Amino acid sequence: MSRIHFLLIWLSLLILSCSAERLEISLRKPPYQCLEGCYDALSLVTFGDIKAKKPTIKDQCNSTSFVSSLALCSSNYCSSKQQIDGWKYITSECEGSKIDLQPQGEVLLSIDTSEVPSTSIFGKKKTVNGTILLDQRSFDAGYRTVNSQWQRLAYSHAFGFAVYLFLIVIVLIGLCNRLLCLMVNRNLPDSPEDPDVPRSTRSPTIWSRGYTWWRKNVTMPALFGYRHSQPWGWVSIPTRMQSILIFSFIAINIIFTCVGYDLFDDNTEDTNDKQAQLLDQLQYRTGVMCVYNLPLLWLLAGRNDVILWITGWSYSSVNLWHRYIARLAVIQAFIHGVVYSIDKRDSLAERFFHRMYWGTGVFALICFIFLVVFSIKPIRTRWYEIFLVTHIALAVCSLVLLYFHLTHMKGKFDPYVYACGAVWGLDRLIRLLRIVVLTYKALSSKGKNTIAVMSNDDSGLIRLSITTSIRIIPKPGHYYFLYHPFSIKPWENHPFTVASWEINDDSTTLHFLVAPQKGATKKWRKRVSKTPERSDNIRLLIEGPYGHSNPVERYENLLLVAGGSGITSMLAYIHTMKYHRQDLRDVVTKKVTLVWVVKNLHYAMDVIQNELKEFVDTSNGIKGISVNIQLHLTKDTDSTTTTLAGSPAMSRDNSKSTGSSPNTLSSPTMFAEKVYQDEETKEPGEKPSGALTIHYGRPEMHYLVDTALSRLVGGERLAVSACGPAAMIDDMRKAVCELYGSEEGKVDGRTLEYFEELFSW
Ligand SMILES: Cc1cc2nc3c(=O)[nH]c(=O)nc-3n(C[C@H](O)[C@H](O)[C@H](O)COP(=O)(O)OP(=O)(O)OC[C@H]3O[C@@H](n4cnc5c(N)ncnc54)[C@H](O)[C@@H]3O)c2cc1C
Repeated sequence: MSRIHFLLIWLSLLILSCSAERLEISLRKPPYQCLEGCYDALSLVTFGDIKAKKPTIKDQCNSTSFVSSLALCSSNYCSSKQQIDGWKYITSECEGSKIDLQPQGEVLLSIDTSEVPSTSIFGKKKTVNGTILLDQRSFDAGYRTVNSQWQRLAYSHAFGFAVYLFLIVIVLIGLCNRLLCLMVNRNLPDSPEDPDVPRSTRSPTIWSRGYTWWRKNVTMPALFGYRHSQPWGWVSIPTRMQSILIFSFIAINIIFTCVGYDLFDDNTEDTNDKQAQLLDQLQYRTGVMCVYNLPLLWLLAGRNDVILWITGWSYSSVNLWHRYIARLAVIQAFIHGVVYSIDKRDSLAERFFHRMYWGTGVFALICFIFLVVFSIKPIRTRWYEIFLVTHIALAVCSLVLLYFHLTHMKGKFDPYVYACGAVWGLDRLIRLLRIVVLTYKALSSKGKNTIAVMSNDDSGLIRLSITTSIRIIPKPGHYYFLYHPFSIKPWENHPFTVASWEINDDSTTLHFLVAPQKGATKKWRKRVSKTPERSDNIRLLIEGPYGHSNPVERYENLLLVAGGSGITSMLAYIHTMKYHRQDLRDVVTKKVTLVWVVKNLHYAMDVIQNELKEFVDTSNGIKGISVNIQLHLTKDTDSTTTTLAGSPAMSRDNSKSTGSSPNTLSSPTMFAEKVYQDEETKEPGEKPSGALTIHYGRPEMHYLVDTALSRLVGGERLAVSACGPAAMIDDMRKAVCELYGSEEGKVDGRTLEYFEELFSW
C-alpha cells in the first residue's frame, strides 16, 4: 500500500470522525438570538398563570401572559427579520412540547398596549398577571447573557478549530522547508572539472546566502545553548525552527485561552458576579481547548503519522512536538478541573458521588498528570519498556474516562474522542499490516527467518540477518522495529537501522548490527552466546521501513561520523554506493571519509574485520570512490593502554595517527599495519582507494569538518552525516553552524550540508 493510500485513509477517517454537523464551529450569531434575549429575561419574571416553581418550556408556551410578553418584547426590541426568525424558533420549541403557538402578529393584535406595564427583572420580585413590556435594562441583560453564552460556546470551538488551522500552517512550513532542502540538493551545480579553481572563488548567490542563514540560524541550532540531542535537565531543547513552531502553537493556545470573555453586571445567570462568570467561561474554554488538542497529541505519537510523511521530519522531532502538546493539554485539563472545582465549590462532594462526569473527569485528570510525570527523560531512558506499557495503559484509560466525562455534553465532543481512537487504531493497524506483509512467512511452523551470529564474545556484537517474506528495496537510513514473537513479551519491539542487504528473487535479506544493551538485546545476546557456534536460527518479525534516506551521494565529498553503534547507519550508505549504486540518483561522490569514534576496541575490530573489511582493503573499496576510515578509540582501559603501549605518541588534536601495535592485538593491527596511510604525507592523487588509520582519544568535530572542507577543490561540496551519542551529535551540529557563513574561512549551504541521525527519542 503506497503512502498516498495511507494518507487518504487517514484523512477520510479524520473527516468522518469529525463530521461537521456535530461540531459547533460557527462565528455567526443565530438569527433568533434577539428573541432568546427576551425569553431569557422573561424567564426571571413570575407570571400568575404559571404555577410551576421551576417552569419548563411547556409551562411557558402554555402561558398566555408569557407568550404575549415575549411577542411584545420581540416587536419592541428586535428587527423585523429577527422577529420572524425568533418566532419561528419559539414556535418550533413549543411544538416540541406539543403546543401550537399563534403567529406573532395575531398575538400582538390581542394586546392592548396602552394597558401594558413596563417591568424590570431587577429589584423586588412580584407576580405579574397579563402582558408586560420588559424595560430596556432588562432586555439588555437578557440579550447580553444569551450572547455571552453563545460566545462561550462559539469562541471555544472556533479557537479550538483555529488551532487545527494553525497546525496546517505549521505542516505547510515543514513541507516548504523540505522542498527547499530537496531543491538545494537536486539543483546542486556541477562541480568544475578544474581542481585548481579554489573553493573560495565561488560567489554566493542570494539564494545560497538565504539558505545558509536559514540553516545556520533557524533550522539547525538549539533554541539556546547548544544542547538539543542531549537533555537539558529533564527536558529536550528544541531547535530554533522547532521552537518557533512549538512555542507559537503554545502561544496561540494561551492567547485563545485568555481572550473573548464578556464579563458584565446584570448577567441574568450570575448577576454582578464577574468572578463567577469568569470561572464558568474559563473552565469551559480550557476544557474545550484541551479536547481539541487531544487528537493532535495522539496523531503525533504514532509511527505512521501523516504529518511525518508530509514534512519529512524525523520521528524524534515529531515526538518532541507530542511531548510539548501533551504538557500543554495537561495544563489545560488541570486549569479546567481546578477552575470548575472553585466554581462549584459548594457542591463538590455531591457532584463527585452523584454525577458521572465529575468522578470520571477527576480520574482522567489524574491519568493525564501521571502520563506526563512518567514520561520524563530519566524514566524514559532508564526503564523504556515500563514507560511504554504504563504510557499506553494510562493513555487508553484517560481516553475511556474522558469519553464518560463528556457524556453529559450530549455527544458534542465525542468526535474528538473517536478521532483519538481512530488515529491510534489506524497506526496500530498499519503497524500490523507492515509486519504481516514483511514477515508473514515467519508465522508458520517452519518460519525461522533470522540468523543471529556473535562472531566475537568480547565485542558482544550480534549480527542479525533477517529474510523478509517479500522482495523489498531498502534504503540507507531506514530502520525497522524487530519483534520476538514467541518470547515472554511478544509485543516488545526495538528499532534497528539496516546496515546492508541482499536482494534475492522473491525476498530480501536485511543485515543488522545490534550492540546489546541491558534489556531485550541482552537476552538475545545470552541466547546466541549459549549456542556452541555462537549462531542461532530464530524467528523475528519486522515492522518498517521507517526513517528517511539522505541524498549524500549528490556530494563529491562525504564525511560520515559515527559514534559507537551509530556505525550501522553509516555502513548502509557506503554499502549502497558499492552494491546498489543503480538505486541511487546521479552519484557524484569521489571521496568518503568515515570517522568512527568507539570505546570498545573489540567491537571496533569486529566490524573492521567484517563489514568494513572490503573498504579497508585497498583493492576492494568502492569503484571510483576513495574510502578513508579513521578509527578513534576512546576507552582508556588497561588492555587498551597495554596493547597500544608500543604505538607512537598520539596527539589529541587528531593530526597524527598510528597503525603499529604489539602482537596482543594481532588481528586488529594486521589491518592497521597493512593499510595504514598517514594522510598528511600523501598527495591526494597518490591515495589508495581504501585506508584505515587508528587514532586515540575523541576527535574534535569542528576540526574534522574544517579539515574535510580544506580538502575540497574547485566547486566540490561536502556532506556531513553524523550518527552517535547525543553529545557528539550536538558537537557536530555546533561545528557545522559555526562553519556556515559568508565571511572569510566560512562556507555556504551549497558547499556544506549536514544530515543527522539519532538512535534515541
Ligand atoms: C531509530 C533508531 C535506530 C537504531 N538503530 C540501532 C542499530 O542499528 N544498532 C543498535 O545496536 N542500536 C540501534 N538503536 C538503539 C536500539 O534500539 C536500542 O539499543 C535497543 O532498543 C535497546 O534495547 P534494550 O531492551 O536492550 O535496551 P535497554 O537496556 O532497556 O535500554 C537501552 C537504551 O535504549 C533505549 N530503548 C530501549 N528500547 C527502545 C525502543 N523500543 N525504542 C527506542 N529506544 C529504546 C532506552 O531508552 C535506553 O536509552 C537504534 C535506536 C533508534 C531509535
